[in-house]
Amino acid sequence: MTSALHIGLVGLGKIARDQHLPAIAGTARARLVAVASRNATAEGVAHYPDIDTLLAGASAVDAVVLCQPPQVRYDAARRALMAGKHVFLEKPPGTTVSEVEALAALAQAQGVSLFASWHSRYAPAVEPARAWLHGQALRRVSISWKEDVRHWHPGQAWIWQAGGFGVFDPGINALSILTRIVDEPIVLAEAAMEVPANREAPIAARLRMNTASGAPVDAVFDWRQTGPQTWDIAVETASGHLLLSHGGSRLSVDGVAQAAGAEGEYPAMYRHFLDLVEQGRSDVDVRPLQLVADAFLCGRRQPSEPFADC
Ligand code: NAP
Repeated sequence: MTSALHIGLVGLGKIARDQHLPAIAGTARARLVAVASRNATAEGVAHYPDIDTLLAGASAVDAVVLCQPPQVRYDAARRALMAGKHVFLEKPPGTTVSEVEALAALAQAQGVSLFASWHSRYAPAVEPARAWLHGQALRRVSISWKEDVRHWHPGQAWIWQAGGFGVFDPGINALSILTRIVDEPIVLAEAAMEVPANREAPIAARLRMNTASGAPVDAVFDWRQTGPQTWDIAVETASGHLLLSHGGSRLSVDGVAQAAGAEGEYPAMYRHFLDLVEQGRSDVDVRPLQLVADAFLCGRRQPSEPFADC
């Protein structure tokens, strides 16, 4: 790529401000030229009220980054792809697997790149964990992903609505790491979800999965954890015990800390997106979303206490 990729960003919420704006600003090969937001502006950047006006007005945009909630992402992605733009989707890439597969086919037909991003895969210890596990016989995988929803998602109504994923919004991050570091297919066997009486999406979930070779994979997701937060994946193999903790940023093997990379998740994702565009490729892996969809398909739902935001 000889000149910088011109980016239009849609949905100026928490993740856009916390991560995308600084990551784009720090990427030499990318430049933010337009923002579509119903409520906010980014200093020095052309503003549009929605994606349609952005696509119609900002002719210099090469790629569109979608940072809205998943419920509105398919429609926006479709419009951007139809307009011939490369598209970077925040996670989860959609509310259904069929949406994401349709977008992948459309990107291919349009000859543009689609990146269905999974930011946790870019946490610095994930690739070292994958390398250590490569070719190993797995005995058991245990995932514990427990956080305080009031701290991380204050006032986010969409996350509790149908298609908002509830506790699977963070839980899918664990599944994105799992499907990256384990070489074999993973199949969901059973799921149970606790759904607050006043909400449409679960506050807690338990998944029982198996690797294709039969190793059990258990996951516990819980949004009611106050105090220290837990984002751990433990893997027992014939040759040792691996612990990937702090959301994929720290790795130990048999209690001994291992080296991890230094690059942040979002700078690494923008580097990958630019490479995809330059190489004329897409990166769309629906496996984490498929596991969540399977949990919603076969999982038992149990009502729990009504949940109040504060
Ligand atoms: P958020 O703070 O609620 O922001 C979402 C933004 O999307 C809103 O500010 C709004 O921006 C726009 N939007 C468009 N249609 C909307 C609708 N119908 N309802 C609500 N907002 C709408 O959410 P977020 O935390 O940034 O999360 C957005 C996506 O990023 C989610 O898929 C989430 O899983 C993912 N993500 C979040 C985090 C995190 O730490 N928060 C981390 C990684 C990934 P305008 O007002 O500008 O139109």
